[in-house]
Amino acid sequence: MSEGRALIFDIQRYSIHDGPGIRTLVFLKGCPLRCPWCSNPEGQKNEPELAFRRSLCTGCGECLGACPAGAIRFQDHSLEIDRRKCNLCGECVSACAPEALSIAGRWMSVEEVLEKVERDRVFYEASRGGITVSGGEPFAQPRFLETFLKACKARGLTTAIETAGYAPWKTIEPILQHCDLILYDIKHPNPLRYRQLAGELTGVSGERIFDNAGRIASLGFPLALRYTVIPGFNDGAEDREALFRFAKTLPGIRRIDLLPYHRLGESKYAMLGRDSPLKKLKPLARQDLEIWVAEGKQKDLGVHIVM
Ligand code: SF4
Ligand code: SF4
Repeated sequence: MSEGRALIFDIQRYSIHDGPGIRTLVFLKGCPLRCPWCSNPEGQKNEPELAFRRSLCTGCGECLGACPAGAIRFQDHSLEIDRRKCNLCGECVSACAPEALSIAGRWMSVEEVLEKVERDRVFYEASRGGITVSGGEPFAQPRFLETFLKACKARGLTTAIETAGYAPWKTIEPILQHCDLILYDIKHPNPLRYRQLAGELTGVSGERIFDNAGRIASLGFPLALRYTVIPGFNDGAEDREALFRFAKTLPGIRRIDLLPYHRLGESKYAMLGRDSPLKKLKPLARQDLEIWVAEGKQKDLGVHIVM
């Protein structure tokens, strides 16, 4: 992997939820965690993937003839992809006029990404916004991350990283100096429950994650916690208290963002030929989380619901 390139699955403009002001989000592909509620499953694997949006398919059949590997066929009038045969050549994508097929994940150079994010400089300047690198896990592609953030800062662009914090400290520390804000995802307030929550594929321990959060905060870097509230997993009163207790140990904490669980990511699993792990879970509404805001206020913590 070159230090000047990263596998990127999306660049999203005009975001107002991922750091201050108007921001461009750069999503790096590949994550060591496998959270079952992940709303960006296309960011999990550290390799490109073929994505198929069935709702856009007109059934024209152009992709069948285009595929050199014989990986596409119609079965009961429905298009099926044999992902074991697919070599990601992209011929079917070029043949598909309605853009039902795409490759999630593209290698991009620092210069290419800079060219894209520079397009909205005027919005960053007017709103005190900037660039947020998210994922996947940004620290999983540290060389690109460092080079890119450094280049952004050299051009006067403010920077943020959204991370789940699961990386060696020696990877994280040198990159912090190029970053104005860390958005730090906490999955559960009890680090010992991380392995279970993160699922069976890679289930990681939360201890390193909590340790890294403490180290970042103790160095005085601006830090905001992000917490996706999942019904039945981490939404109990004891979870709330534990999260606030942990937040109070972090000097320099700016805010806690609560992200209520939603099902918007479910269709993406189907697009990638995977089952959504949490199909039957009910989404949460803003009012379900207002008690978190009220109790946070009593503890002098700025708790915000992000929807
Ligand atoms: S990416 Fe290439 S091999 Fe895979 S289904 Fe499309 S055409 Fe076939
Ligand atoms: S080329 Fe696109 S629209 Fe046509 S059958 Fe294939 S996926 Fe569907």
